[in-house]
Amino acid sequence: MRDARTALDTLAGWLRGRYRGGRVLGVGHRVVHGGARFAAPTIVTPQVLEELRQLIPLAPLHQPYNLAAIDAVAERIPDVAQVACFDTSFHRGQPAVAELVPLPKEIRDAGVQRYGFHGLSYEYIASVLPDVAPQIAAGRVIVAHLGSGASLCAMRNGKSVDSSFGFTAVDGLCMGTRPGAVDPGVILYLFQNMGLSAQDVESILYKKSGLLAISGISNDMRDLLGSSEPAARLAVDYFVYRAAKEIGALTAALGGLDALVFTAGIGENSAEIRRRICEASSWLGIELDANANERCGPRISREGSRVSAWVIPTNEELMIARHTGRLLGLI
Ligand code: AMP
Repeated sequence: MRDARTALDTLAGWLRGRYRGGRVLGVGHRVVHGGARFAAPTIVTPQVLEELRQLIPLAPLHQPYNLAAIDAVAERIPDVAQVACFDTSFHRGQPAVAELVPLPKEIRDAGVQRYGFHGLSYEYIASVLPDVAPQIAAGRVIVAHLGSGASLCAMRNGKSVDSSFGFTAVDGLCMGTRPGAVDPGVILYLFQNMGLSAQDVESILYKKSGLLAISGISNDMRDLLGSSEPAARLAVDYFVYRAAKEIGALTAALGGLDALVFTAGIGENSAEIRRRICEASSWLGIELDANANERCGPRISREGSRVSAWVIPTNEELMIARHTGRLLGLI
């Protein structure tokens, strides 16, 4: 798709073909950043849109495209209500220590804090836990959203208490093309000693790092698992190592762990990565059921495992549809 308008026209054509005679009652959008203010989905008004535009510098690679889709709908079907659902909202309400970036006050006052992302995915998982795994729904749960973007969320009683993403969706776990946590001194070094520009560094951090950089082959986990190249093996080793290390850190934040849930492209489909992460986390009391893991669960830990492990497919689109329907009084 060339731009939001072309995408919308294509989608509208598909909708008309599929639901002949139907009428659009509302449009829900995934918007990556809701800042500190939007702790819940919200109906889009001109004022809301203006506030969301002010957040573009916080997510320059995602927010403009999300807002372009809202603009395209407003232009084509101006009378239809739109709802913005944020990837950050689910994490609002975390303890102050989890949100803090300990830099000078004027920097924090300008909006520099840990926001967390993948919130719609985590909210969906929290919403289905009472049905899929009622025994852990009120407990201490780490959800591992492992896809092209990857992060972990620590939940207590279905609420986010911390996550591996921070101010941006670069922090935390190793991802397809993003490095995850990097000593900030490295970034300074890139500017001061390697003479790189801000644009170079942005491109390195978002597009040229992570699994792609380590392997030199691909950012797709399937390619790496199928390769016998030492660099591909190192990329997978690092992915697992970082995930297991961060699971340990979030377990400390939760004061213990009752369950680990895998979701998203890698988490839902790769029995090998799940096995390796569970093995690296066996010290926490996770005992994997190899057959259940191969069958993709939903429960993949053995009966009697002190910490249970699960595979639950995520559904961010359904979460957006539910929010949109509820906010517009349609359901
Ligand atoms: P997502 O961003 O959630 O759509 O996840 C996309 C990523 O999931 C892809 O880049 C693949 O690396 C990964 N993926 C999908 N299927 C598999 C699989 N069967 N085994 C390993 N990785 C997979």
